[in-house]
Amino acid sequence: MAPPRSWSADAAAGARCGCCARDLPRSSVHELGATPGVFICRRCALWALARIGRR
Ligand SMILES: [Zn+2]
Repeated sequence: MAPPRSWSADAAAGARCGCCARDLPRSSVHELGATPGVFICRRCALWALARIGRR
């Protein structure tokens, strides 16, 4: 029951958080609208939002 190679490669690639540089599955990161190709993980997004909210 091995997944198709293309699917497997895509899933393995995942995305790297531009904030903490951790490799994460695409489902765990969000692409930044202002900077396409740059992703941020949920943890960093929450941190950033909290930081922005403080200003
Ligand atoms: Zn992060």
